[in-house]
Amino acid sequence: MGWKQQLAGRITTCAQLEEFVDLSDDEREALDRSEFPFAITPYYAGLLGNEALRRTVIPSLLESVKGVGELDDPLGEENHRVTPHLIHTYPDKVLFLVTSFCATYCRYCTRSRLVGRPLDAGSVSSFEESFIYIEQHPEIRDVLISGGDPLLLSDSVIDDLLARIREIPHVRSVRIGSKVPAVLPMRITQELCAVLRRHRVWLSLHFTHAAELTPETRSACRKLSDHGIAMVSQTVLLKGVNDHHEALAELFYGLLEMNVKPYYLLQCDPVSGSAHFRTSVEKGIELIRSLHGNLSGLAVPQYVIDAPGGGGKVPLLSLEQVRRTGGDVRFDNYEGREYRYPDL
Ligand SMILES: *Cc1c(COP(=O)(O)O)cnc(C)c1O
Repeated sequence: MGWKQQLAGRITTCAQLEEFVDLSDDEREALDRSEFPFAITPYYAGLLGNEALRRTVIPSLLESVKGVGELDDPLGEENHRVTPHLIHTYPDKVLFLVTSFCATYCRYCTRSRLVGRPLDAGSVSSFEESFIYIEQHPEIRDVLISGGDPLLLSDSVIDDLLARIREIPHVRSVRIGSKVPAVLPMRITQELCAVLRRHRVWLSLHFTHAAELTPETRSACRKLSDHGIAMVSQTVLLKGVNDHHEALAELFYGLLEMNVKPYYLLQCDPVSGSAHFRTSVEKGIELIRSLHGNLSGLAVPQYVIDAPGGGGKVPLLSLEQVRRTGGDVRFDNYEGREYRYPDL
């Protein structure tokens, strides 16, 4: 099945999903009631015999429970929105949201408030205000294109978008954030690779578990690598999915074998309905400490908390960096400002 058929045939109902996995009554109810979009590619549904992957994409009734300190917009992106498509949180980089559409929706998504809803994308002209903003801000050197999943746009839209950004002389680095190699590896065609190569893009991929590193995904990443495209991976630390040493070691070595550098291990953002996915910060620090020294340095990402409210990503290596007050973990960001993460 080609990538367009995969998208057209996405699983969006209980009946379709039950052709792949057995659902509990609670799961059926959660799916029927879900306010947050639900869709899984047939390709990825074929991997859901794996219990860890199953948890990341099948709705749970716990999603409707809003925990203490949880927010619909945990990273304060709306306060840093400078055009309809640009989030400018850090001094020299911008997040460019070009689509709200994903091939498969992750249940712990930080942008569940936005994804799956129309965002008037689809043509590069709708981004003109954002290009002008970047042009008028010479301090911006790094553009991270995300969404939604930008690799679901057509090759020609991606080509035009990248060409337009590359015209801006002070932009030194362009990245695309995507989960496509994991959930829709057939999207990685020779034509797409040629576009990405032409504009010298880095890919920032999202992988959760070694069970995602199938022959199809390995072949997609090999194709990207053969075209000279540099790749890193971001992994969200998720309870009951990848919150133990062996799961992380297996994933990170597997990524290295595909020429993908593990970049960030992210503490799960306190988005509304995420409590059943979140581990304690102490657990995250313990896990990252168990990797340093015991694994190839290349296989070890930085463990970061994205400071709630928009303080940026803060790397953590030691308990001495955090202070606890009741349920909150407090820490300082790169500007020396204190932020709080609502821990459990
Ligand atoms: C994560 C993020 C970036 C990119 O951060 P890096 O640490 O450079 O990978 C840029 N802008 C926003 C708003 C982000 O959340």
